[in-house]
Amino acid sequence: MGKPTGFLEVERQDRKYAPVAERVTNWREFTQEPGAEAVSKQASRCMDCGIPFCHSGCPVNNLIPDWNDLVYKDDWQAAIERLHQTNNFPEVTGRICPAPCEAACTLNIDDVPVTIKSIEGEIADRAFREGWIKPQCAPRGTGKRIAIVGSGPAGLACAQQLARMGHAPTVFEKSDRIGGLLRYGIPDFKLDKSVIDRRMEQMEVEGVIFRTNMEVGVTVSVERLLDDYHVLVLAGGAEQPRDLPVPGRELDGVHFAMDFLSQQNKRNAGDAEEKAAAGGTISGHGKHVVVIGGGDTGSDCIGTSFRQGAASVTQLEILPQPRSTRTRR
Ligand SMILES: Cc1cc2nc3c(=O)[nH]c(=O)nc-3n(C[C@H](O)[C@H](O)[C@H](O)COP(=O)(O)OP(=O)(O)OC[C@H]3O[C@@H](n4cnc5c(N)ncnc54)[C@H](O)[C@@H]3O)c2cc1C
Ligand code: SF4
Repeated sequence: MGKPTGFLEVERQDRKYAPVAERVTNWREFTQEPGAEAVSKQASRCMDCGIPFCHSGCPVNNLIPDWNDLVYKDDWQAAIERLHQTNNFPEVTGRICPAPCEAACTLNIDDVPVTIKSIEGEIADRAFREGWIKPQCAPRGTGKRIAIVGSGPAGLACAQQLARMGHAPTVFEKSDRIGGLLRYGIPDFKLDKSVIDRRMEQMEVEGVIFRTNMEVGVTVSVERLLDDYHVLVLAGGAEQPRDLPVPGRELDGVHFAMDFLSQQNKRNAGDAEEKAAAGGTISGHGKHVVVIGGGDTGSDCIGTSFRQGAASVTQLEILPQPRSTRTRR
C-alpha cells in the first residue's frame, strides 16, 4: 500500500471525455488521457485490502493492488510486468472493459471506487510509448503446430501464450482483418484499431501466423487442419444475434446491430462502400433511428448513428432506467 491515507486525502477523479459536440464529429477515441501524475495520485487511493474484493470482480484475476502500488511508487515498468502476468492485452481492457473490478472495489461502498480501469489503460499505453513492450520470443520451439479458429481476443490471447511457450500457432480468421469483435463490432471511438495492429506486429515477431479470409469448414476443412496441425483450438465467438420475432420485424430498415456496426468500422478502415457494405448500405445519416436494447451494443449503435448524422436517435429498453453512476456489487 503506497500511501495509507491516500483514500482519505485524494478524491476520485476519472478520465474525462471530449465534449459531446466535438466528439460526434469524428471517429476518434473520446476519452482523454489524464497523464501519469494524475494517475499516480489516483493509484494512491488503493487501500491494498487484505482481501481485495477487486480481485473477485476481475474476470482475468488482475493483480490490481500490486500495480496500483507500483504506479504510486513511480515504477511503471514493474507495473506493466505485473499487469501482463494476468492479461495479454491490458491496452484493450484499459479502454473497453466494463470494469467489474470497480463495482467490486471496497471504496465503492461510498460510490468512489479506485479508477482501476484508467490506471490499467495508462500503464499499458505508457509502456508502449516507452518501448517496454517487446516481443517475447520462446528460446526454442516445441515442434507442435496449433491451428486456432477465430481471431477475437480469445483466439489472440491463446495464440500469444502458445507462441511464447515455443509452439507454432496459426490463427485462421474468416473475415478480411484480424481482431474479431474488437475489429468489427466495437466502434473506433471506443477502441482505435491501431491498438490491435500494434499487438499483431508483436505477435508476428513472436511467431504467430495470421491467415485471413479463411473460413474453417468452408475455405479449409476441419479434417485438413487436423491432418496438418497437432491441436485445433476453437475460438470462433458467439456470432448469433438475438432476434425479436414480433410483427413488423420483416419490414425494411430493421437491422441487427452487428450488420450496422461492422460496416462503419470497415469504412473507417478505408474500405470502399461496395466492400464495406457488400449487402447494401445501412446508415443512420439523416434518419430517425430507433435502437432496441439499452446495453453496450445499443450504446455503440447510438454513438455510431450520431456520428453518421442521424436526424434523431431514440433508445428503447425493457428495464427501468439505470442510475447515472455505477451500481454496487
Ligand atoms: C457491438 C459490441 C460491442 C462490445 N463492446 C464491448 C466492450 O465495450 N467491452 C467488452 O468487454 N466487451 C464488449 N463486447 C463483447 C466482446 O467484444 C466479446 O466478448 C469478445 O470479442 C469475445 O471474444 P471472442 O474471441 O470469444 O470472439 P469474437 O470477438 O467474436 O471473435 C471470434 C472470431 O472468430 C471468427 N470465426 C468464427 N467462425 C469462424 C470460422 N469458421 N473460421 C474462421 N474464423 C471464424 C469470427 O469471424 C471472429 O472474428 C462487445 C460486443 C459487441 C458485439
Ligand atoms: S478493492 Fe479497491 S481499494 Fe481494495 S485493493 Fe482492490 S482496488 Fe484497492
